[in-house]
Amino acid sequence: MKVPFLDLKAQYDAIAGEIDDAIRQVIERTAFSGGPFVSAFEEQFAAFCQCKHAIGVGSGTEALWLALAALDIGPGDEVVTVPNSFIATAEAISFCGATPVFVDVNGESQTMDPNLLEAAITERTRAVIPVHLFGQMADMGPIMEIARRHNLFVVEDACQAHGAEYNGRPAGSIGNFGCFSFYPGKNLGAYGEAGGVVTNSDEMSEKIKMIRDHGQSKKYHHAMIGWNGRMDGIQGAVLSVKLKYLAGWNDARRKNARLYTSLLNSIDGVIPPREMDYSRHIYHVYAVKARNRDSLMAALTEQGISCGIHYPVPIHLQNAYQYMGAGKGAFPVAEKCAEEIVSLPMFPELTEEQVNFVVGEIRRFCSV
Ligand SMILES: *Cc1c(COP(=O)(O)O)cnc(C)c1O
Repeated sequence: MKVPFLDLKAQYDAIAGEIDDAIRQVIERTAFSGGPFVSAFEEQFAAFCQCKHAIGVGSGTEALWLALAALDIGPGDEVVTVPNSFIATAEAISFCGATPVFVDVNGESQTMDPNLLEAAITERTRAVIPVHLFGQMADMGPIMEIARRHNLFVVEDACQAHGAEYNGRPAGSIGNFGCFSFYPGKNLGAYGEAGGVVTNSDEMSEKIKMIRDHGQSKKYHHAMIGWNGRMDGIQGAVLSVKLKYLAGWNDARRKNARLYTSLLNSIDGVIPPREMDYSRHIYHVYAVKARNRDSLMAALTEQGISCGIHYPVPIHLQNAYQYMGAGKGAFPVAEKCAEEIVSLPMFPELTEEQVNFVVGEIRRFCSV
C-alpha cells in the first residue's frame, strides 16, 4: 500500500468546484495583487484567530520579518528563539540585522523551555519568538510572564499552528503578533506562496500594511522606506474558500493522531507525540521518537510509506549559522530530538486503513 506524506490533490478534488470559481472571479475582476479578495480573507482570518487585524503578506518568512521590522528591531538587538525550527524563524531575525539567540526546548513538547528563557535575556534583548512546533503551541503562560517582566515583545511563530489553542486561546492571539505561513503544505495552505500577520494593535497593523506596500501613505507618496510584501489576489481567494474547511480538517487530523497514538502506545521502541495539558494540538506534523530512527525510516520507505524529519539539523548547527560559534552540545535537548524524530504521514484525508498499515509496519520493524 502506498501512503503519501500528504495529499494535496485529494483535498483539491473535494472542493475543486469552489476553488475554480474563486480563482476565476479573481481573474474576471483582475484583482491580482492585494485587493478585495485579500481584504476579505484578512477579515475572515482575523476572526478565526480572535484578533482585531490580519495582514496578508507574501510568505510566512515575510510575516515574521515584517513583524520584527514593525517593531524597529535591527542591528545591535537580540531576539530569543529556539534552534529546532524551520530556518525561516532565525532568518527573519538575521534579515532585520538583529542577532538570534537560542534557548533549548522542553523534551516532551519540543517547544521553548520557559525555565531557560530568562538566562538568555540580556540588555540587548528586544523580543522573543516562541515557535508552535508541529501544531502544538509553546507554553505561552510563563513565556508571556517573563516577557512582560523584561519588557520584551512576543512574536508567535504560528506557521504550523493554524487553529491550535493554548488553554482555549487561539495561536497568534496571545503575543504582540502571530505570524502564519500559508505555504501549500501547511494546515491552511494557499495555491502558491502566502503568509499573514495577526495583531490586536491598530498601530502595528497600520505600520505593517504600510511597510508591505512600499511605505505608501497614499499612492506614490512614501512616508517611510518599505517593501513589496503584498499577498496575491488568487491566494486570498483560495484561502477564503479553504478557511471554511480548516476546523473540520484539523478535527480529522486530530482523529488520525488519536488512532496513531492509541496503536503506537503498545509498541516498544517508538514514543508518540505528547499533547500537553494546556494544548489543543492540530498535528501539522505527527512526529514520533524512534530508537532506530534511520533504519525505521528506511523500512517504512521500502513499504511505500513516505516519512520526513522535521528537522534533521538544528539551526545552530547549520552552515549558515556557524559564525555564531554554537557547536554540538550547545542545545542538547533539541539536538537529541533531531536524532530521534520521524514524521509519519499526516493529513485530513488519511484513512483508518492507511494508519493501520503504517502502524503495522512499525510494529513489524520494532519486533525484530
Ligand atoms: C513554514 C514555516 C515558516 C516559513 O513559512 P514560509 O511561508 O515557507 O515562508 C516559518 N516558520 C515555521 C515554523 C514554518 O514551519
